[in-house]
Amino acid sequence: MISGKTLEGWYASHPLIRDLVALQETSWFNPAVAPVAQALGDVGLTAADVADASARLARFASYLQRAFPETAGSKGIIESDIQPLLQLSPLLAERYGQALQGALWLKRDSHLPISGSIKARGGIYEVLKHAEDLALAGGLLALDDDYAVLDSDRARAFFGQYKIAVGSTGNLGMSIGIMGAALGFQVTVHMSADARQWKKDRLRSHGVTVVEYASDYSVAVEQGRKQAEADPTCHFVDDENSVNLFLGYSVAAERLKGQLTQAGIAVDAQHPLFVYLPCGVGGAPGGVAFGLKLAFGDAVHCIFAEPTHSPCMFLGVYTGLHDKISVQDFGIDNVTAADGLAVGRASGFVGQAMQRLLDGFYTVSDEELYCLLALMERSEGLRLEPSALAGVPGIARVHADRGYQARAGLDSQTMANATHLVWATGGNMVPADEMQAYLAKGRQLLENAAG
Ligand SMILES: *Cc1c(COP(=O)(O)O)cnc(C)c1O
Repeated sequence: MISGKTLEGWYASHPLIRDLVALQETSWFNPAVAPVAQALGDVGLTAADVADASARLARFASYLQRAFPETAGSKGIIESDIQPLLQLSPLLAERYGQALQGALWLKRDSHLPISGSIKARGGIYEVLKHAEDLALAGGLLALDDDYAVLDSDRARAFFGQYKIAVGSTGNLGMSIGIMGAALGFQVTVHMSADARQWKKDRLRSHGVTVVEYASDYSVAVEQGRKQAEADPTCHFVDDENSVNLFLGYSVAAERLKGQLTQAGIAVDAQHPLFVYLPCGVGGAPGGVAFGLKLAFGDAVHCIFAEPTHSPCMFLGVYTGLHDKISVQDFGIDNVTAADGLAVGRASGFVGQAMQRLLDGFYTVSDEELYCLLALMERSEGLRLEPSALAGVPGIARVHADRGYQARAGLDSQTMANATHLVWATGGNMVPADEMQAYLAKGRQLLENAAG
């Protein structure tokens, strides 16, 4: 029995579960999606909360610029650029046997400074928020000070009295660890079994304590939570429930809005924007999607992408059971090459807050992620990690579902005017030999298919 029902019972009430359990690539466009005017209130956060997070990041810019010289070009603001995928777009049409309308773009969070993944948004934001709270309370800092003073031995000695703990499949640990250690915190990262060795090595070289587990992400998070509960000086970064992580991600949207304007791209009812977001526990794509809905209203359509072996958010929203069920409950193994996406149980907070604001969910096989990784490199010269490719098939899934287009009021003229944005979530810090192995695998799979 799964949540009071047999597997056959689930197949009868929710037929797509059969495809998910069979690990087939599956798409589901959400019939419960509602206008922003009705559904934004579900989140319990507002534009003022996002503005507050944005202002906090601005206060820290002078510190970041000093502590991380790679952020000097953006004056201490951690942001990535966008680029059109002119070469890849026709290859996708060919690959998926479909005419694809609209323009295809990439958001390059794969190249975010400091930690090279989307976690440089939420993870770093939460560390900075915690540091600011402590420093203000401890008299180390006033709100109108130049935060560059935090790059000092005095500040590091102050933060050295405090600990930060987090459970992670890798990238969140990298962001929390690198940022926390730079400020002087004692950081412990509880790493799940699937975390890459190079990420553990990198963190240890920054003076971070890495604890390794033989089990998956949920267990690593649980252990991190336990450590923090026993120690009042320890702040636990709760990837499954954190509002601060969520807000750190949400700031991306206003910045994207500026970038699209600068590129001359309109977003309105006649010019919709589709955004494809790789989803693990849901905090990063959820936070970004919340910001997008605030920034663009009903003109933006947010779609989450997950590996076929880890469709936790898809299952959670589709069944309405959210964090009450895991993919393992359905016999799905949660084993995937997509770092950051190997999560078996979705965030209950994000699923419930965002379920009426998300247009759809789909799954992608690991083999397809590798093929797309090689295609992206061949066509655009861009090197991404497997999880960062999960958003690429989204444009084809949208084009394949006429029923969804009709429900969403997307006629062929509107589709022709659309912009499709693939959110590339990681890759820039992958070591060269590891990247070569990813590429070799993808090229081999492409070649095999070409026969
Ligand atoms: C963490 C991560 C995601 C997804 O973020 P969640 O908050 O876990 O949903 C996507 N891509 C990469 C590379 C990540 O590290």
